[in-house]
Amino acid sequence: MKLRVSVPRRVRKLRSYYGPNEGRAGKLRLDFNENTVGCTPAVLRAVRKLTAEDLAIYPEYQATANRLAHWFGTRPSEMLLTNGADAGIQQIVNTFVDRGNAVLLTDPTFLMYRFYAEMAGARIRVVHYDSEMRFSMSQALRELKKSPRVFFLANPNNPTGTLVSRADIRKLVQSSRRTLLVIDEAYFDFSGVTVLPWIRKFPNLAVVRTFSKSAGLAGLRLGCLFAGPEAMALLRRTSDPFPVNVAAMVAADATVRNHSQIEEYAKEIRRNRELLSSALRELGVRVFPSAANFVLADMGPNAPRIIERLGRESILLRDRAVDFDRTGPVRITIGTQQQMKRLIRALTPLLQ
Ligand code: PMP
Repeated sequence: MKLRVSVPRRVRKLRSYYGPNEGRAGKLRLDFNENTVGCTPAVLRAVRKLTAEDLAIYPEYQATANRLAHWFGTRPSEMLLTNGADAGIQQIVNTFVDRGNAVLLTDPTFLMYRFYAEMAGARIRVVHYDSEMRFSMSQALRELKKSPRVFFLANPNNPTGTLVSRADIRKLVQSSRRTLLVIDEAYFDFSGVTVLPWIRKFPNLAVVRTFSKSAGLAGLRLGCLFAGPEAMALLRRTSDPFPVNVAAMVAADATVRNHSQIEEYAKEIRRNRELLSSALRELGVRVFPSAANFVLADMGPNAPRIIERLGRESILLRDRAVDFDRTGPVRITIGTQQQMKRLIRALTPLLQ
């Protein structure tokens, strides 16, 4: 029998999200920009201490939310917890975007902005990175003149690793007061560059953070949205009563109590980013400068074969051909020095 229920055109046009994300445990996971060593033992202990009663009660947020906000340097009223940054991005779209509104994105960028915007029936406008993976301020300012409803800018950007300076972000946020500028700082710990304090200055600025990357909690799904009082009041209206689960709250609480370990991990990743980049360059691979916990490398027409061969050795990299309409670009998550050495050892014969 056939389904005879009609669906809106905007849903018919969607393709379901495809990520090669099954059976990855135990492998060298350099394909999803996760933390490659996992959360600290203290965080794991805190989650293990959860009782049957803790799980039976609907989550209570206040005490942990206060601690998290304090750690981020914001007021609790300026922060909203979400089920991963993904849900935060969707909530921004749900709150601000009507069918037919323009949403400005960069290209390439993190795919979920387009996904949620298309689901809402938005018109997508794009600012293209050039072949050197540079962000075009002039294109962005030209697009902002048309006052799109929202502009999503990942900073650093995924998959290019590109960082837009704070001075340029100031220009962007000031150039269209009718556009909500969303700076997605999922990779902040690896770039050290943030505009979070500016939510007090610019009512049309929102900032996104996540516990999926440096904190190593991608499996628990915890993101944070930040904005000034007016935008936040609107975002609270579209929030579920229980957007985040109790295990995520307990883990995040323990994470910020032990935050020096995140900082050390981020420092190590920054060091290894340079180590891997120079090793790849010595092997004749073009690597773009990155401010995140991954690099984009151009492995040329052999990229799919190289990825497949590494996969056989349980080393996972991410083919980004779809982002550039050509084979070559490969995104590699940075891990520990030992993990990077293993990758380089496996890659060397494949590149010669
Ligand atoms: N923003 C960016 C730029 C990302 O790259 C990712 C994950 N790849 C996310 C958000 C999603 O984060 P989360 O796991 O918190 O949904």
